[in-house]
Amino acid sequence: SRTYVVTGAASGIGRATANLLAHRGNRVIGVDVRSGDVVADLSTPQGREDAVEGVLDEAGGRIDGVVANAGLSLPTAATVAVNYFGAVGLLHGLRSALVAASSGAPRAVVTSSMATLMPVHAPLVEACVAGDEERAMLIAADLEAQGPQVGAILYPSSKRALSRWVRRVAPTATWAGAGIPLNAVAPGIVRTPMVEELIATEEGRAGLEAAVPMPLHGYLEAQQVAALIAWLVSPENTHLCGQTVYVDGGSDVVLRGEDV
Ligand code: NAD
Repeated sequence: SRTYVVTGAASGIGRATANLLAHRGNRVIGVDVRSGDVVADLSTPQGREDAVEGVLDEAGGRIDGVVANAGLSLPTAATVAVNYFGAVGLLHGLRSALVAASSGAPRAVVTSSMATLMPVHAPLVEACVAGDEERAMLIAADLEAQGPQVGAILYPSSKRALSRWVRRVAPTATWAGAGIPLNAVAPGIVRTPMVEELIATEEGRAGLEAAVPMPLHGYLEAQQVAALIAWLVSPENTHLCGQTVYVDGGSDVVLRGEDV
């Protein structure tokens, strides 16, 4: 049995992942702003510190895997704060425990998105990946202030930055050198509360269909993403390093073409 930390565990993909890992006999420490073993707000530096402290208290000296999954898809600066800085901050905060307290097969996964393939705000992505939260949040606040149509770029930008960060740091001494496979999953549209309203109307579905082609099996269920995450944090995953695995029914392949 392993001990896993899952953020965003109160809903959707995080909840499905926590349930699957627990069902397989593992211990799961759920982190969420709403409810869970550790209640913390990952949008602020203080909240991330509280989350790390709370997790270490709960873990009792044992952490085998971290799933940084909590996220927002609002056209607001908070989306960048949670999706990028929340995920990266929690992983930074738990990394040394992961090295010291794992049973020998530490693993880390973040939830990115097929939205990485959408247009992004390049200076915002750069500020994120540079770890400059102050600058990133200034840019994000400015984009938010221009209204939801402009603010819509915040979500893909946060996810592009997250996948780029994974690719940048995964092969370094900090992660690969410490024996930790660090990877991302990038789901297509998943039936969770995050997209519930959007996919409830014909208009919403038509808009999505144009932007997010999913030729294989259509929308996902949260459990189908959870199964991939569970493998990525399992000891079976020995050599996947810095990848963003698109579990998207083909969106990535259709949008990006045959370049590998
Ligand atoms: P969801 O809304 O059902 O769950 C997200 C969870 O994150 C919620 O429980 C929420 O309380 C938590 N959360 C939000 N802000 C937080 C904060 N500040 N601190 C701590 N927890 C916070 O959505 P979901 O679809 O399960 O999303 C999970 C992840 O999957 C997100 O990163 C999302 O961007 C990503 N994703 C979702 C889809 C989709 O179509 N649903 C597609 C691609 C990627």
